[in-house]
Amino acid sequence: MSRIVYVNGDYLPEKDGKISIFDRGFLFADGVYEVTAVVKGRLVDYQPHMDRLERSLGELRMAWPCSKAELRAMHEDIIRRNALDEGMVYMQVTRGTADREFKFPQDVPPNLIAFTQSKKLIDNPDATTGVKVITVPDIRWTRRDIKSVMLLAPVLGKQAAYEAGAFEAWMIEDGAVTEGTSSNAYIVKDGCVITRPLSNRILAGITRQSLFRLAKDSNVRIEERTFTATEAYEADEAFLTSASNFVLPIIEIDGKRIGGGQPGPVARRLRQLFIDAAEAAAD
Ligand code: PLP
Repeated sequence: MSRIVYVNGDYLPEKDGKISIFDRGFLFADGVYEVTAVVKGRLVDYQPHMDRLERSLGELRMAWPCSKAELRAMHEDIIRRNALDEGMVYMQVTRGTADREFKFPQDVPPNLIAFTQSKKLIDNPDATTGVKVITVPDIRWTRRDIKSVMLLAPVLGKQAAYEAGAFEAWMIEDGAVTEGTSSNAYIVKDGCVITRPLSNRILAGITRQSLFRLAKDSNVRIEERTFTATEAYEADEAFLTSASNFVLPIIEIDGKRIGGGQPGPVARRLRQLFIDAAEAAAD
């Protein structure tokens, strides 16, 4: 089935969804995006995603492409038009279309595009087996708190992971793990979940935010601090989070088995808590 995509107010067959070669996202990566999970045809954690979008737009002094109500309606419409049951909605805002000049163009409306992706988020085989991770240097810019479309470093990291037979790359800066190329990073030691504190060095994951709430409600301890790759090798468990993977157990880092090479109990429990919450919200 060919998807219906959204481009600046129009719903079109995906082959007709086109944007100008002068789009500033295309020329400068001058744009921001959000990926929101869909379970049972319903958006998961929609509002926090839009709060983060607002922050990303504000940090880059970029205008909203439409009203917040219109953006919500567009998300719901694109799910309906594609009969999406489970997967994600990707949406992107760029500073608009203008002749190539670095400084901001004047009086140019932003470009808004969106599309759906179907994916088994709940019955995900990767979650049953657990996944492998490698480490790579973090070569990104230092405003990773902004969810910008400037993703070349994550593309290179993910490709390195793929070529090493791994699912994700954890990025290392100043000797510590920052995060995954498209996910937040966690280890578990003596029942305590350890993850890096929020700063401009990582993206404030929405799944991370929800996980903190669920962990607190279930008396799972979380410590926010930096950790090294060596510490991760010796951890009881490791896992990652993102909107498109929820909580995904990690069983190997740089070829070293974690938790005996099996998804650990804390990661499995947190994954189930996340799924239960997403399903309950969708009912
Ligand atoms: N960190 C990075 C660099 C990401 O790209 C992502 C998601 O794409 C995340 C973390 C996880 O964020 P979320 O849970 O909002 O999907």
